[in-house]
Amino acid sequence: MKRAHEAWSLIEILVVLALLLILAIWLLPQYTGRGTDPSGQPRKTPENAALAVQCRNNLQQIRLSLRMARPTGEEPLPASLQDLRLPQEVLYCPVSKQLYWYDPHTGRVQCPTRSHEGF
Ligand SMILES: [Zn+2]
Repeated sequence: MKRAHEAWSLIEILVVLALLLILAIWLLPQYTGRGTDPSGQPRKTPENAALAVQCRNNLQQIRLSLRMARPTGEEPLPASLQDLRLPQEVLYCPVSKQLYWYDPHTGRVQCPTRSHEGF
């Protein structure tokens, strides 16, 4: 009788452990995962918050380079961001890994990542 009870306890412990494991696998990517969720929205993690700051810095650096490439403001805008000769990693959003949008007619630079539109 006592033996049967002990065996049942072991099964109970294993079931609880399995449930915790499933819960952890389900929840962990939301807290530790880099990048975006399936809808394209960056996950709300401390790491992505830091990468959003890096994205703002990248855009600031690109806009500054665009201004420096045209000292009088009358020179033609570069045809692409590659023409600015900045390091490649500056030209991509660190969260979504997408190339920044650049309009060679207006000189506007924007991040394509959702929730980075205002950067
Ligand atoms: Zn971005």
